[in-house]
Amino acid sequence: MIPNETVSVTPCTREFLSTHHHRMLIDGRWVDGSSGETLAVLNPATETVLATVPAGSAADVDAAVQAARRAFVSPAWAKMKPDQRQRLLLRLADLVEAHARTLAEIESLDNGKPAAVAEAVDVALAASYFRYMAGWATKIEGSTLDVSIPFAPQAEFVGYTRREPVGVVGAIVAWNFPLLLAAWKIAPALATGCTVVLKPAEQTPLSALYLARLIQEAGFPDGVVNVVTGDGPSVGAPLTRHPGVNKLTFTGSTDIGKLIGKAAMDNMTRVTLELGGKSPVIVLEDCDPGVAAAGAAQAIYFNQGQVCCAGSRLYAHRKIFDRVVADLADHANALTIGHGLDPANQLGPLVSQEQMERVCGYIDIGRQQGGEIVAGGKRAADIGYFVQPTVIAGVDQKARVVQEEIFGPVVVAMPYDDLDQVAAWANDTPYGLGASIWSNDLARVHRLIPKIHAGTVWVNCHNMLDPALPFGGYKQSGFGREMGRAALDGFLEQKSVLIAV
Ligand code: ADP
Repeated sequence: MIPNETVSVTPCTREFLSTHHHRMLIDGRWVDGSSGETLAVLNPATETVLATVPAGSAADVDAAVQAARRAFVSPAWAKMKPDQRQRLLLRLADLVEAHARTLAEIESLDNGKPAAVAEAVDVALAASYFRYMAGWATKIEGSTLDVSIPFAPQAEFVGYTRREPVGVVGAIVAWNFPLLLAAWKIAPALATGCTVVLKPAEQTPLSALYLARLIQEAGFPDGVVNVVTGDGPSVGAPLTRHPGVNKLTFTGSTDIGKLIGKAAMDNMTRVTLELGGKSPVIVLEDCDPGVAAAGAAQAIYFNQGQVCCAGSRLYAHRKIFDRVVADLADHANALTIGHGLDPANQLGPLVSQEQMERVCGYIDIGRQQGGEIVAGGKRAADIGYFVQPTVIAGVDQKARVVQEEIFGPVVVAMPYDDLDQVAAWANDTPYGLGASIWSNDLARVHRLIPKIHAGTVWVNCHNMLDPALPFGGYKQSGFGREMGRAALDGFLEQKSVLIAV
């Protein structure tokens, strides 16, 4: 069933969507792009046009960076006391919560994900991250040091360090968690006193534009947060090259992350990259197969598998492999798929036709390389970019579906025989974002954790994120950390001060 999108949403969502053309925010003003061109934003559940947004250009990026530079040094922002930044961030967190349902509906219509999931996960985490980072605004501190300079033994000094905001932050995000990823970039930037130019993904710009309204309503000065819509080459690339940007923070694919890292080096722009993954789900032999299968299903099918840390490789001990895979297939087959505004649906469509074709292409590659499709395996509807939750077994470690990120509801399942073997396989991809271990055998779990090359290891859970827990990748999954105190380091310079007294 396709719900009537205009009647089943909140009045705020209806009002927002009735503006078929949305403008972007530069220097506190809602503007069209300098070229006048627009991009269509599709609803992936119906393949219909939801809205249009400006197709931004290098000139728009330049205007936004100039605005952010002015705001960075403006007394209204540069002289604002930390407790006032904290107050504004808390107000923003409250506004995000007050508009939770609307944000969730916009996210669902734009990205496809179930609105209930968007509200419980994306919006709730975004609000909690603004609130968490609000707390840090008043706790940024350096240290005082007792120095002993060997070539000046008689002299006296006072030494200390200060943390200073890095400046203008260029933030580029992907389409899988549009609001939440924007929050991951904006919250620490504002807590530290930076200013921001955000480029949402071209597929999903709407929740960022709605968030920008809330940022204005919270009372942040003009130009502190700017949002430029458009595609990667026209907006993302000029932002990465702009000499007025002091820090780039990116969430997206490893391929684009590498381009951004290289562009950053040309200007020595600071850079944080949160990239792809191929995270293993490792089930030890003591684990109840039913528990493991339910966990594995959640690990891969959450957000239609469009999660950088999705548990896309299942390694179950040979003794319980068949039971785990059979139960996982039952979970996959039982999931209800459909329009995200229908509360009965647990999975929505993938974000775009391109993504659907990519995922179906990988399923075909799995088949060609000898894989057995244990569940799913094809498109789930003729209209909308729906793909069945899929389980592939019978492939070996070197198969492309085991090595490459699919970014969809597709898990490959493989049996293993001992801990050293599974640790080696778990680490045998270019990625290292997350991993989960399923077991109550404390000793084995603790032996395995240090062997896993990943930024996060979950035990008896997967995809669990907390604002206080650093998140980021080993190897080609990225550079730097988001969330937790660690996130602040990416937005702060460290200045050493030494005073001869
Ligand atoms: P995905 O593979 O998940 O679509 P991408 O890595 O392609 O993710 O895109 C993530 C973000 O990076 C999007 O906002 C996209 O527009 C942007 N982007 C794409 N190409 C470039 C580029 N050359 N320079 C900067 N940003 C880019």
